[in-house]
Amino acid sequence: MGKTQPIKSIDDVRMWESIEREQLELMACCNCHKFRYPPAPICAECLCMETEWKPVSGKGKVVSWVVFHRKYFDDFPPPYNAMTVRLEEGPLIVTNLTGPEPEGSWIGREVKLEYVVHDGRKQHAARIVD
Ligand SMILES: [Zn+2]
Repeated sequence: MGKTQPIKSIDDVRMWESIEREQLELMACCNCHKFRYPPAPICAECLCMETEWKPVSGKGKVVSWVVFHRKYFDDFPPPYNAMTVRLEEGPLIVTNLTGPEPEGSWIGREVKLEYVVHDGRKQHAARIVD
């Protein structure tokens, strides 16, 4: 087992820095203006190599979720959750729920990103707000 750690690359270091500042920014295409997430050197829509960075609201809806009861990482002792959120700007991100777990399905619930300290570094987490 090991710990989870960001693997920063030239394409996503700005995203990791925005998480440290608690204002998530995602890469977007300078030509077609679509978000490019995960960050990549070329736009999958128009093949443009120019990029811009845009802040996102942190608001979104839960698309899927899971609670793991098996240990995969030393810094995530079970049980722990993971969820996919569609941000209101469009991109899908994987994060963790913070705050109380709702009864029943989490799908479709409205969330807002917050920032938590995990193993000495900041990461985003989503709180249900509806
Ligand atoms: Zn593009």
